[in-house]
Amino acid sequence: MEHRLLHVLTAALFGLAVGSFVNVVASRLPERRSLVHPGSACPGCGVAIAWHDNIPILSFTLLRGRCRACGMAIAWRYPAVEAATGALWALAWWMWGPTLDFAVAVLFVTALVAITAIDVERQIIPDLITLPGIVAGLFWLSSLPAVAAWVGGT
Ligand SMILES: [Zn+2]
Repeated sequence: MEHRLLHVLTAALFGLAVGSFVNVVASRLPERRSLVHPGSACPGCGVAIAWHDNIPILSFTLLRGRCRACGMAIAWRYPAVEAATGALWALAWWMWGPTLDFAVAVLFVTALVAITAIDVERQIIPDLITLPGIVAGLFWLSSLPAVAAWVGGT
């Protein structure tokens, strides 16, 4: 039992880190900016954000939601997306543990968090997320025994 809790917590930490990347995706993908370059910077003053000011949830709390350099408010979307992704990863591990179902579940919920964040901010849902999602979903569906039997006509 203790082990299982530890694994769920680990999944939550991974989810938090992934949530941090989801924020990068939500900020940059709709603007067709690179997801890897340059590193994170304050949209107010342009100062690069140090790694220790970029720790999910913790940094937002310690900085009281403000840029260290210029004091500009950091959008609530950042900690919200991190918390949601962390919680959903923890829940997925709790439900499925180390299985393919877990991998599919976290892919799905992570994409949904990204879509939700972008939709709330810009009222758009990028094809760049949904179209690959549809393809991945169809592949996943076709791997289910019932669907495979139906497609195979048996
Ligand atoms: Zn700033």
